[in-house]
Amino acid sequence: MSLTVVGSIAFDAVKTPFGERSRMLGGSAVHFALAASFFDTVRVVGPVGDDFGVAELAVLHGRGVDTSDIEQVKGGKTFFWSGVYGWDLNDRETLTTELNVFADFVPKLSAESRDSEVLFLANIQPDLQREVRAQCGGARFVALDSMNLWIDIAKESLISAISSVDCLILNDAELRQLTEQPNLVRAARKVLEWGPSVVVAKQGEYGATLVTKDDFFSLPAFPLEDVHDPTGAGDTFAGGFVGYIAAHPGEELSSDLLRRAMAYGTALASFNVEEFGTERVARLTAAEIGERVAELGRITQFTDAPLALRD
Ligand code: AMP
Repeated sequence: MSLTVVGSIAFDAVKTPFGERSRMLGGSAVHFALAASFFDTVRVVGPVGDDFGVAELAVLHGRGVDTSDIEQVKGGKTFFWSGVYGWDLNDRETLTTELNVFADFVPKLSAESRDSEVLFLANIQPDLQREVRAQCGGARFVALDSMNLWIDIAKESLISAISSVDCLILNDAELRQLTEQPNLVRAARKVLEWGPSVVVAKQGEYGATLVTKDDFFSLPAFPLEDVHDPTGAGDTFAGGFVGYIAAHPGEELSSDLLRRAMAYGTALASFNVEEFGTERVARLTAAEIGERVAELGRITQFTDAPLALRD
C-alpha cells in the first residue's frame, strides 16, 4: 500500500486573533501528508527551495513521510503564502501567494510514487494536478482539492482535472463558485456529472458534507472551545478522509466506508486548528485520534422514539 500526494510545500505567514507566525511550515501537501501518515506510507511530490531545511524535513520524517520525491531546486525559493483571519475564522483573506519554485515545476514521479494505489491532488495549479494524474494511471482512488484562486484563473484546466478523478474535496463556497450553483446539493450533483463519484464539501466550523449518487451525509466539526489557527484544516481533513480509504485496500467504496472516512477527516482536522500550522498534528497520537472519533460518534447519534403527531 502507499499513498502519493502532490501539492504545495510551503512557508506560511499567518495572523489570527489569537497570535501570529511570520514563517512556519505549511502547504497543502504537508498538512495532508502529516494527517494521512496515521493510515499509510505517504509519498510527497513537489519542489522546495534552498531555504527549505533540515528542520522542515524533520517534521515530515517525524511522521514517517517519504520525502524522496521532494525536489530541492538550487537557487530557488520555497512557495510562500500569507493570510489573515478575523473573528470569523471561516473567512480568511489571502495577502500573498508566491509560487516561486512551483512556477517552473515539471513533476517527475519515481516508480514507487507512480505505482501508488491512492493519489491525492492537493491544492496547486490544476495543470500540475493533471500531469501527476496522467503519470499515476493505475491508482484505484484519486481525490482532488483546489481553491478560489484556480477557479478564477484556470477554471477550464481545473474542470478537466476534476473530470479525471474519483473524488472532489472542496470548500463549500468554492464548490458553489465553481459550478455556478447557489445550492450545495445541486452544486455537488453537477460535479458528479463531470466524472467523480464522490463530492465532499468542507464547511469550516460547520463541518463537512458528503454527496454521492446514492448518499448524503453530513458531520459537524468537532466542538472545540479553543481554535487558534484554521490554516491547513481542509488539507488535514483530506488527509484523514483519503488516508482512511487508503487503509482499506480492496474494499468497495461503500457509504459505510465513506461515512467512517468523514469521521476520521473531521477528527484529524479538529486537532489541526488547536494550534498554529503543523504544530499540533506533528505531535498527535493514534490514541488521541481514536478517542475523538468515538466522541464524534456519540455526539452525532440519536435514536428516534416515534410518537403520534397531531395533524
Ligand atoms: P487550507 O487552510 O486547508 O485551505 O490550506 C492552507 C494551506 O494551503 C497553506 O499552508 C498554504 O501554504 C496553502 N496554499 C494557500 N494558497 C495556495 C495556493 N494558491 N496553491 C497551493 N497551496 C496554497
